[in-house]
Amino acid sequence: MLGRSLVPDQTPRQSTGVTTSADGPHYADQPSVGEPGGTPRASASPVETGPAETGQDGSGRVAGDDNLFGAHATTGTPRLALTFDDGPDPRYTPQVLALLREYDVRATFCVVGENAQNHPDLIQSIVDDGHTLCNHSWHHDVGLGARSADAIRSDLLRTNAAIRAAVPDAPIVWYRQPGGAWTYPVVSVARQLGMTPLHWSVDPSDWELPGATKITATVLSQAAPGSVVLLHDAGGDRQGTMEALRRILPDLTARFELEALPTDPT
Ligand SMILES: [Zn+2]
Repeated sequence: MLGRSLVPDQTPRQSTGVTTSADGPHYADQPSVGEPGGTPRASASPVETGPAETGQDGSGRVAGDDNLFGAHATTGTPRLALTFDDGPDPRYTPQVLALLREYDVRATFCVVGENAQNHPDLIQSIVDDGHTLCNHSWHHDVGLGARSADAIRSDLLRTNAAIRAAVPDAPIVWYRQPGGAWTYPVVSVARQLGMTPLHWSVDPSDWELPGATKITATVLSQAAPGSVVLLHDAGGDRQGTMEALRRILPDLTARFELEALPTDPT
C-alpha cells in the first residue's frame, strides 16, 4: 500500500487506471518525499491493473551522504558506469543490449526478481553479453528498508534465486534499493548477503518521461569520471530512454571509459 499511495501522476495510462500487458509490469515512479512529483495521490491505480504499482528509482537528485548509509554513488575509478533498472523487459531490454553491443559497452542491470523469473532468457542474454547484475528487490518495494531484517533478507534472497535460476553461476554482488530509499537495515542485510549497496550520481529522471532530448542533455552535462548513471529499461514507456541512449553512447564512449560495475568490488 505504501508504494501505491505514493504513485504520482505520470502517464495517461495511469489516469485511466489501465495498465496494458504490452508494457509489462508498470513500476510507477517514486520521487523523494518533498519533491514536486512526490505528492501522494488520492486516487491510486486499481490494484488489479498491474502486478507492481510501486515505486521506482529517481529522486531527481543525488541523495545526501547521510541518506546513503554507505551505498556507493560512484565507481571509485575514472570509469563511468551505465546502470539499467527495473527490468528485464521484453520490449526494451533487447534494444538496450543491441545498442550496448553496437558501441562495445558493458553495463550493469539492476533487475527486479519477478521480472527475472518471468524473463530468464533476458537475464541470460544480459550475462552472455558481458554485463553485470544487481539485485533490485523482488517486487520493487520502495518501502523494503522499513521492514524487518528477516523480511528484507527473504526478499533479497528470493530475487537472487530467481536470477540464479536463469544464470546459476553469475555473480550478484550489487544491491540497489528501489527509490534509493536506503535504510540501515537494508544496507546491513545486503552486505550480509555479499552485496554492495549501489546508488547513483547522475539521474536524468527518465521515468518521468521528460523526452529523449532532456534525458540526453542531463546525462551528457552531468557525466564525469566515476559517474554512475541511472537509466531504466522497464517500468513503463521507455522509448525516450531508448532514443536518449542512442544519442549519448557516441559522446560518452568518446569521453570516458565505460564499465560494467565489477563483480569483485574492492
Ligand atoms: Zn527501480
